Amino acid sequence: MSAFAFAPQPRHETVGVSVGGVTVGGGAPIVVQSMTNTDTADIDATVAQVAALHKAGSELVRITVDRDESAAAVPKIRERLERLGLDVPLIGDFHYIGHKLLADHPACAEALAKYRINPGNVGFKAKKDKQFAAIIERAIQFDKPVRIGVNWGSLDQELLTRLMDDNQAKGFPLTAEQVMRETIVQSALISAELAEEIGLPRNRIILSAKVSNVQDLIACYAMLSSRSNHALHLGLTEAGMGTKGIVASSASLGILLQQGIGDTIRISLTPEPGGDRTREVQVAQELLQVMGFRQFLPVVAACPGCGRTTSTVFQELAQKIQEDIRRNMPVWREKYPGVEGLKVAVMGCIVNGPGESKHADIGISLPGTGELPAAPVYIDGKKALTLRGTNIAGDFETLVGDYIEK
Ligand code: SF4
Repeated sequence: MSAFAFAPQPRHETVGVSVGGVTVGGGAPIVVQSMTNTDTADIDATVAQVAALHKAGSELVRITVDRDESAAAVPKIRERLERLGLDVPLIGDFHYIGHKLLADHPACAEALAKYRINPGNVGFKAKKDKQFAAIIERAIQFDKPVRIGVNWGSLDQELLTRLMDDNQAKGFPLTAEQVMRETIVQSALISAELAEEIGLPRNRIILSAKVSNVQDLIACYAMLSSRSNHALHLGLTEAGMGTKGIVASSASLGILLQQGIGDTIRISLTPEPGGDRTREVQVAQELLQVMGFRQFLPVVAACPGCGRTTSTVFQELAQKIQEDIRRNMPVWREKYPGVEGLKVAVMGCIVNGPGESKHADIGISLPGTGELPAAPVYIDGKKALTLRGTNIAGDFETLVGDYIEK
């Protein structure tokens, strides 16, 4: 069996890029980022959502800058966040008129920690290189990094046509799918080369190549990382809603991360109407944590339950402990260094309960259906006490809190 089965490949070596003080690439821990879905011109709504995403664990937050009103709002949003004591780097997402917005709104250009541009829609024909250059020159002037973010939904059509014609002239050695992947990768690399020629150093450039198909995504990033040492932003675009989006993103990003590819990730989930935007941050953190790349939260191990657990006490307790931990983490992280490494077990019955609980720092094995209402608690691998009565869940919550404080 190859080493791949046992451990992640060594991280692909990339040039580190500082984004407002957060390092992406160059061996730094893989960064979690997300994006707002508010109208950036609505300052109150955007500040609230950036704050929520950052508090949930997003280390960088991207906002849409699509018109004069949103560009004018950016420095005010930055200022409001600073007043709230939130030092989260903001990334401006520009399409079509980024060159104009950055030129007309220098305060916006200064307030942002990075500019994201898409080579597929920066301009057309003769204007394309000029407008791309104008954005890169602003980045040089304001000393900001740039993400060159290719997206297959807005692929550079001139490049695609050229590569299709080349393929035809050579007798179709590549499938249509391979030409599409090649276009995505070349679009990113050609644009990065152009940016460097204009004068933006490599330690100010991040690349991404987003598609919505899992296999295409894995192929594009593998090609990109084999041809360059630029820091890479991973994300499956249009991943979708609910479990489909989570599974597709985790499958594709998980495989790439296991291969040592990727310096920052964004999980793009379509929220339910009125749904919680911070869900994508939780999924990104959990992906990095379960793969062993980073530790954000204590692990709560819980069994799936079965016919031995017809009461809902066990599920409710597992959920409650998980929520308590998430809510308290901002304070605990400050007060109790290393609390992220804690493991709590909430098990449904005595079949696997005691064994799993002994492997945790603190664990409980609840009584399965029909068993005596007694729940042994294990602390540091040893049985410490047995909880009885009607408030087993509440008593265990208190014990977890006490354990963390001690
Ligand atoms: Fe079922 Fe008990 Fe196993 Fe949980 S630990 S899945 S309740 S047998």
